Amino acid sequence: MTTQRGRFFTSVSRSVEAAARHLNIEAGLLEQIQCCNAVYRMRFPVEREDGTIEVVEAYRAEHSHHRLPVKGGIRFAPTVSQDEVIALAALMTYKCAIVGVPFGGAKGGVRVDPFARSPRFLERMTRRYTTELVKKNFIGPSIDVPAPDYGTGEREMAWICDTYDVLCPNGMNNHACVTGKPLSLHGIPGRREATGLGVYLGIREAVAEAEDMEPLGLKPGLEGKRIIVQGLGNVGYYAARYLQQEGGAVIVGIAEREGGLFDPNGLDVEAVFRLRKESGNLLKLEVGEKIARSEELLERDCDLLVPAALENQITAENAPRIRAKIVAEAANGPVDWEGQEILRQRGVFIIPDLYLNAGGVTVSYFEWLKNLSHVSFDRMTSRWQEESARRLVETIEGLAGKSVEAVMRRKLIKGPKEVELVHAALAETMTTAYRRLRGLQREKDLPDLRTAGFVYALGQVALTYRDMGIFP
Ligand code: NAD
Repeated sequence: MTTQRGRFFTSVSRSVEAAARHLNIEAGLLEQIQCCNAVYRMRFPVEREDGTIEVVEAYRAEHSHHRLPVKGGIRFAPTVSQDEVIALAALMTYKCAIVGVPFGGAKGGVRVDPFARSPRFLERMTRRYTTELVKKNFIGPSIDVPAPDYGTGEREMAWICDTYDVLCPNGMNNHACVTGKPLSLHGIPGRREATGLGVYLGIREAVAEAEDMEPLGLKPGLEGKRIIVQGLGNVGYYAARYLQQEGGAVIVGIAEREGGLFDPNGLDVEAVFRLRKESGNLLKLEVGEKIARSEELLERDCDLLVPAALENQITAENAPRIRAKIVAEAANGPVDWEGQEILRQRGVFIIPDLYLNAGGVTVSYFEWLKNLSHVSFDRMTSRWQEESARRLVETIEGLAGKSVEAVMRRKLIKGPKEVELVHAALAETMTTAYRRLRGLQREKDLPDLRTAGFVYALGQVALTYRDMGIFP
């Protein structure tokens, strides 16, 4: 076990061990649950833009085979290491258990700075990485199903799917080898925004609890809450957008790699996102106060801090200076073990990553199911539901002797679109999971929601192993 442990995996393991004290899990079973079942570390050559060759380092970690396929994103970042992918794969195992997604956890990483490379280099690299995964049986609809993560998105998932299809021709279910694909290439509507939307839904659940807000000196509800978001990528952008547009929160700060913006009266997330895309640099925008060191923004006054970039952003070093009353972990592992202890002592409420960013894997699961069934979720039911609702409305009109107003009639009889079904199922998942964790925390008198999350997840994984008859 110790050989697998770097800083991030140690942090996850400490949470697991703290949770295990509240459960009756024998040592051997706990070790089996905690350890990473398989890691493939690879090195492969990729032609650079200037024709020279770069040897790229990459990984795929399959943390737990208690359920197959295993599932987890692929990250492109210069910081990728074996410790990081193992820790992230482990979090995936527990995350899937918390939101009832029947997969084991996995994660992939390629050590490269995607923001500094050309699309052609990234394509060659992604295709070669996929080839390595195919060669070693580390990808496949029933084996291991990657998804987007930091530095990757729909484009990379399309390259992976295409490469897999070329190498494994005629597979009926090939499109289910990866999720987060573009819509035109067998993706699902709602996946792009799923993690950020899930973050919003999770925060909304948490701040609705008056009993939990009172000790923080906060009123229940999102309306008017002052929020700082770190990272305006896939997760951070959608989370900030929903928090502002649906929740009525005030986004007072946005931090990116190059620096941050702060405005106590609120920033327009949509406008900042668009302008940053155009100019490539947040600090070129003529809005709010410019902050050159983005880490500084984490320490500004706000109600909620939403780290949505990378791990280890809040540590023993800066935790004493964090002024947010709630830290909502949209990224994986943004608060390390020591940072968490300090925040806890200071009464900061943490909404943990293994619950809060589970919206992505939830909708990835729906995409995988759709790919296996080869039909969209609304296709078989939408028309039938419309007809059924129309008959009901007409019956009520007949009984009442008057007609329903046209706009209301359209609303009542409209069949669901696929994206509406996805959003509704995601909302149900996030709400149910939050209530379950909060209930468990209270029932077992656990110190925080993270411990509750690990206690629940460990219990679920342990149950599967016991039911296999391997452990007593
Ligand atoms: P992304 O690449 O789309 O966006 C990350 C953003 O963070 C980028 O815009 C980057 O410039 C910015 N960033 C990097 N370092 C920063 C720093 N020091 N300060 C401020 N900004 C910084 O990645 P993403 O998919 O949004 O993933 C973000 C986090 O969410 C990661 O921890 C990832 O593991 C986690 N996550 C992602 C998903 C998903 O579906 N994409 C699902 C679950 C969890």
